[in-house]
Amino acid sequence: MGNTKRTKSQLLEEMQQLRSELTAIKLMTEKQTHELSVSEERFSLAMRGANDGLWDWNLETDEVYYSPRWKSMLGYAESELENKLSTWASLVHPDDKEIALEKVRDYLDGRKDSFEVEMRMRHKDGHEVFVLSRAFLVTRGSDGKPLRLVGTHVDITERKKTEAYDGKQAEILAMIAIGRPAPEIYDAIALMYEARHPGMRCAMLELNDNKLLHGGSPNLPKEYCDALHGMENGPSVGSCGASTYTGQRVLVENIDTDPKWAKIKHFALPHGMRCCWSEPIRNSEGKVLGAFSMYYNHPALPNERELKDLIAAARLTGIVMERDQAQKRIWTLAYTDELTGLASRAAFIQHIEEITKAYCRHNRRFGLLYIDLDDFKRVNDSLGHDAGDLLLKTIAQRLITTCRESDFIARLGGDEFCILIEEMEEEYAAHVAKRCLEAISQPIEVYSRKITPACSIGIAYFPDDGEDPSILLKAADISLYSAKENGKNHYAFYRAELTQKAEYRFQIEQSLREAIENQELSLVYQPQINIETGEIFGAEALSRWFHPQLGQVPPGDFIATAERIGMNKTLTEWVLQTACSQLVAWKKQGFKALRMAVNISPSLFLDQEFVRLVKRIIDEAGIAPAELELEVTEGIVQTDPRNLIVFQDLKDLGVLLSIDDFGTGYSSFASLKHLMVDYLKIDKYFIDDMLSDEKTLTLVGSMVKMGQKLGYGIIAEGVETQAQLKILKDLNCEIVQGYLFSKPVDADSISGLLTGEAHKKILHQCRLDKIA
Ligand code: C2E
Ligand code: CA
Ligand code: CA
Repeated sequence: MGNTKRTKSQLLEEMQQLRSELTAIKLMTEKQTHELSVSEERFSLAMRGANDGLWDWNLETDEVYYSPRWKSMLGYAESELENKLSTWASLVHPDDKEIALEKVRDYLDGRKDSFEVEMRMRHKDGHEVFVLSRAFLVTRGSDGKPLRLVGTHVDITERKKTEAYDGKQAEILAMIAIGRPAPEIYDAIALMYEARHPGMRCAMLELNDNKLLHGGSPNLPKEYCDALHGMENGPSVGSCGASTYTGQRVLVENIDTDPKWAKIKHFALPHGMRCCWSEPIRNSEGKVLGAFSMYYNHPALPNERELKDLIAAARLTGIVMERDQAQKRIWTLAYTDELTGLASRAAFIQHIEEITKAYCRHNRRFGLLYIDLDDFKRVNDSLGHDAGDLLLKTIAQRLITTCRESDFIARLGGDEFCILIEEMEEEYAAHVAKRCLEAISQPIEVYSRKITPACSIGIAYFPDDGEDPSILLKAADISLYSAKENGKNHYAFYRAELTQKAEYRFQIEQSLREAIENQELSLVYQPQINIETGEIFGAEALSRWFHPQLGQVPPGDFIATAERIGMNKTLTEWVLQTACSQLVAWKKQGFKALRMAVNISPSLFLDQEFVRLVKRIIDEAGIAPAELELEVTEGIVQTDPRNLIVFQDLKDLGVLLSIDDFGTGYSSFASLKHLMVDYLKIDKYFIDDMLSDEKTLTLVGSMVKMGQKLGYGIIAEGVETQAQLKILKDLNCEIVQGYLFSKPVDADSISGLLTGEAHKKILHQCRLDKIA
């Protein structure tokens, strides 16, 4: 065309062409618009059909359209939730939010050619919903900048749960395969089904001799499980009791109203449980081993899936339970001595290995008693093996009744037994050995023949005599030998000195009971001197025991024994009576104003009867209460608040109280202030060190000063030298007692000290500084 003029016909032709092009364009646009609306309609239909939620995000304004399905997936109505990005941000799990946003960026920036993410979102009622989010449309501006992103949400919670369930199931099968302990697997099974059905709680009970035993129930309250444990099954013992009883599935919709729960619903209702379905657990032969139960906190019957799971759970548990019971049977066979029912040698070896390891770590001690019957062979030979067996069974029974439940008793074979004993208190193993000797040596009738069995016991200590089980056993065996050498019915320690020590203790224990009756006990008296005047103004009574065989037994040995064998009160009564009548005797001789101090074991301060005992003795002797002083160690002050009552009662009675061995315990002046104490007796330990140690001297000085400020009299005990006496005098201590003046002596010697030369000497000692 160019500049050339066009003809009319040419123009017409061009116009015609344009028109037809326009029509074509118009037609095309109409078609496209139609197609677009058709595709949108299809899309929305597809979405509805697929039950997916739709979101449409304006990337410039961060406005987001959430479709009604998107909202209902999370429990919200169409009218709820704002059309903003922050709505999503507040509902997505915080851990998943960044991941999702990162993936959006990757997609928009072209680093990924699709967008797809799984995330957890919070449902309106609080539970978690797994969502699969996909984007399928991006609109970009002319500059290529993304303007709009549209995508879907699919609820994949069920799929996730199934995946988790499958994973768990595989884990449980693995646990069964590698032989994890049954209770562990029971818990895993319960947790697996609980995760699958939110709100459900599961329990497994084992049936043993018609008794329901706790198997596993990680989320049921302990009190409830404890209450059921050991109950006999029966038609009205809840769903589990009934299902194990009948061997049938028992579905209880409402625990509160169902007669099967009448007897035990009060255990369940307070913990919220409202329905319970139980399926019998069976072994491969169909025998009922227990029950699997599912609980909810609302009345309900199982839906199809819950019912399927109940049956599957019981079957799975059955596999575990059957295997566990078989293992227990094998264990019992291997680890129990068939004849006596005690632990077998194998069990013993296993136990001693475990216990040495554990005790090594915790620095603990145990005793190993190796017991061997004397002359057992003769019984076997003369009376036959049945008689021998009967004897062994009897011995086993006697050992069981002699030991504590925590002691481990085993029969090693033949007529040999072993006991492992945790040494709770000093010489406990020796005590058990002694009791075993006594118990075993009781006569027994075997097939109308009377036998008096006897045994020997060797004792070794872990770790002292061996840290390794085999060395320890050897030590016990060697001690058994030396016990046999001593004749029948003896025990011996691996270390001979321990045997002697134990023998000595037992001898004391045995003869102490008769010591008072046999008049083997006596009192000696140690004078207490007023440092200022040099006058003897009182005495401390100290017990002495002369044993016909053992000679002088130190009070430290027999006082503790008296306490252990419950003779303490009798002994104290005797001391108080003897001391008080001595005081009266001195008075009769003309020595007025003397005071008698008696030591009292702390345990008596817990005995309300004790106050009455003291009162009776004072009354019977006819002395004034203030003439008697009771010495008690300071441990009493803080051990037990109940002591305070007896303390107060004694004060009310009018006797004097002093704290013995003051400074060695942990009592402070603060703790003393509740007690109406009259005297503090500073322990000999301080007096000993006072001269050589500046700090001790300072301590003694403060004790005297503080004590006096608080209104206590001060007594210093164990004064042995003139130098100590001088210091105490300088410190203003009031009363002294110790070898410097006199050792504890008999009553007559005290009379001598109160008069004559000895008296003058004491006076002189106390006035030395004045003379000097
Ligand atoms: P204790 O009450 O601290 O008695 C003081 C002990 O120190 C006495 O020993 C006494 O002989 C000794 N002693 C006194 N002055 C000196 C000294 O200057 N140097 C030395 N080296 N020792 C001195 P004993 O008589 O052997 O009594 C020991 C412990 O036995 C007493 O300690 C007391 O706790 C307890 N005891 C004694 N008789 C009885 C009693 O009849 N009943 C109670 N419950 N305990 C008693
Ligand atoms: Ca004392
Ligand atoms: Ca003392």
